Amino acid sequence: MPEGDNVYQAATAMHAALAGKRLAASDFRVPSFATLDLAGWTVIEVLSRGKHLLHRLAPPGSGAQQEHDDAGRLSIHSHLSMEGSWQVYAAGQRWRKPGHTARVALTAEDGTSAVGFSLGVLEVIPTAQEGSAVGHLGPDLLGPDWDAARAEANVRRQPERAVGLALLDQRNLAGIGNIYRCEVCFLGRVHPATPVGRVPDLPGIIATAKRLLEANKSRPRNTVGGFGPRNSTWVYGRAGQPCLRCRTRIEHSTLAEPTPGTGTHIGETRERDIWFCPSCQPLR
Ligand SMILES: [Zn+2]
Repeated sequence: MPEGDNVYQAATAMHAALAGKRLAASDFRVPSFATLDLAGWTVIEVLSRGKHLLHRLAPPGSGAQQEHDDAGRLSIHSHLSMEGSWQVYAAGQRWRKPGHTARVALTAEDGTSAVGFSLGVLEVIPTAQEGSAVGHLGPDLLGPDWDAARAEANVRRQPERAVGLALLDQRNLAGIGNIYRCEVCFLGRVHPATPVGRVPDLPGIIATAKRLLEANKSRPRNTVGGFGPRNSTWVYGRAGQPCLRCRTRIEHSTLAEPTPGTGTHIGETRERDIWFCPSCQPLR
């Protein structure tokens, strides 16, 4: 499951490769947009909002430089979900993923392309209506709208809810996936099943999430490591191995979501596997 920093990196790479360029071709391989042709459109910017990606495009013949003029512009909204990725290719470069998993390919006039594979969500919407796609998100840990106090207040709205679930709920704060959820609970010494109202230092946990995402957002990362010592995670994926702090065996379990009917946005189904140290993170 991609985390906010992976999505941020994908957006940054595509922005560097495509911003300011006109598209020579687009190839949407999903039924709803199979006939859409964005040749001649100019990529204005590519950005992330939590774990969502937005490619903003200006129509042919329009002034691409005009700021704050969304009229006529389109946004390609995508979400990587569990398996998805976006990759940038130089002209003529071979794709590193099987062609049948490609959902969209955008090719600029200089041959540079961005290809989205196995995307969980792919739609093209008027830029003015981006709110329908990402308006439900809480403050973005890596976005210009980050607001720690508002994120904390959002989490606290359900004091009985497990903190490990509240942190994954993108409506509370946007950008945390399962790795960060498990790691920040360990670093905050709270069991992920602890009710929000009983977490001793919720602002500290949110600050840790912000710090980890910021630290990793511009770091090339092919593995999930980089949190604990020796480039390992502290607890994520380490069931049965000794805790790097106290040597107790790390445990794996699952968290049940007590509030059914939430998380209706595709690709945001909450991951329920948890890893934790029973000594460092006793259930309160
Ligand atoms: Zn421990």
